[in-house]
Amino acid sequence: MPLYLDDAVPPPMPREFLHVLLDCYKFIGEKPVNPAMAMGLLRERLLPLLPEVHKPLFDFRGQTSWDTLWILYANLASASGGTDRQLIASAAVVSIFVRHITQPPREVEFPAYLELASFVRMATLLDLPKAHPHLGAQGVSTPLYAFCRYCWLPQRARGVCKHHSASPRPVDKVGVPVCAVATHKQVQRLRPAFEKELIRIVSAEEWQFHESEFGSAVMVPPSGLANWLKERRPVLAQQLEPEGCRGEVRQLPALLQALYGNEGVDVAPAIGGAVHLLTPITARAEAWLCAWKGRKSWGGQRQGAGKPAVHPNNKDTTQSVK
Ligand SMILES: [Zn+2]
Repeated sequence: MPLYLDDAVPPPMPREFLHVLLDCYKFIGEKPVNPAMAMGLLRERLLPLLPEVHKPLFDFRGQTSWDTLWILYANLASASGGTDRQLIASAAVVSIFVRHITQPPREVEFPAYLELASFVRMATLLDLPKAHPHLGAQGVSTPLYAFCRYCWLPQRARGVCKHHSASPRPVDKVGVPVCAVATHKQVQRLRPAFEKELIRIVSAEEWQFHESEFGSAVMVPPSGLANWLKERRPVLAQQLEPEGCRGEVRQLPALLQALYGNEGVDVAPAIGGAVHLLTPITARAEAWLCAWKGRKSWGGQRQGAGKPAVHPNNKDTTQSVK
């Protein structure tokens, strides 16, 4: 698949960035492009346009995938703070690479389970197991990592958990995690903010992990869980606070209760001692809870209010590059 630049409408950007795009287009010609080649070209031609301080944004180890490029895009866009023209233009170039490598252009969706891809990369470097155990809650076998698209709970059908289908069957709301109380409409509305938070958390952690030469404690630890949660998942940690005085030993059941509600008791045996397997789900939960906390800033958000004005969080982030 070459680069189909004819379909792309690059946003206004400094001339030298546009030239990078055109040079790459000419260089690629009819050649098929894979993620490693795309990253190589971007490092060779785009990276020199950035000041030294931003160059580490291009440091990725391990195999390059389209997800890696998408993380690069997310890192550049978020480092730009929406104001740095060079970073905004770089992000736009990367996003064109990711989208226009197919014809018609790839619908750039939030990458499916960005947090899982990141977890697998880091766990591989640490030589930790990455198995995807199944949860056996109430006789239903659910893969630990098949998340509801709107929250952190396991999928039941059509990509959503039992609380977030378009027409949920009545489910007992006693002993359920916080996200279960949000309605289908609410979680749909929350999704862009949720995904933005998730990109922020996951890319910052992976970045830190590499910066620390793999020494940073990014995985859920078998001990010292309370401190880890306070530091790395502070909003989720607040969910555990009523249980907080129980001490370290009881922190894991409290965390599983916060994540899965009463079904959490089934999760402990499924993961065995490998608590680091909870790293992706805690990232999702933290991101969701951050977004949920921030929803108060939504305009016209009372129930029954008319169609709300577009909130900045609802904009497609791929469009926000100017
Ligand atoms: Zn859900």
